[in-house]
Amino acid sequence: MKNTLAPLKPSRYEEDYFVRQQIELRRSLATQRQAGMELEAREAARALHFMKCPKCGMQLEEISLGDVRIDKCFGCQGLWLDAGELDTISARESGFMKRVWQAFRP
Ligand SMILES: [Zn+2]
Repeated sequence: MKNTLAPLKPSRYEEDYFVRQQIELRRSLATQRQAGMELEAREAARALHFMKCPKCGMQLEEISLGDVRIDKCFGCQGLWLDAGELDTISARESGFMKRVWQAFRP
């Protein structure tokens, strides 16, 4: 008697489909792993460089001037502003700082 319930052999097209599906899954996982590694690298760089002068590497000191906090380097005498602080300053200024903001704003 012939066995009519024998498993069907997948066609070549079905096999190719499943191979492509596996490759796409692994590609997606690799992309996620890579993004995680990039995030870890950014976090490590941030921890290493946070509040360090980008020019000379000295520790930056935060000086409050009204509601603006200026990061001051006493190594190279540089001044650094966080995002939005130049905008805050230039909103009150009509002189040179406004011109600086207009030239450098994103
Ligand atoms: Zn410096």
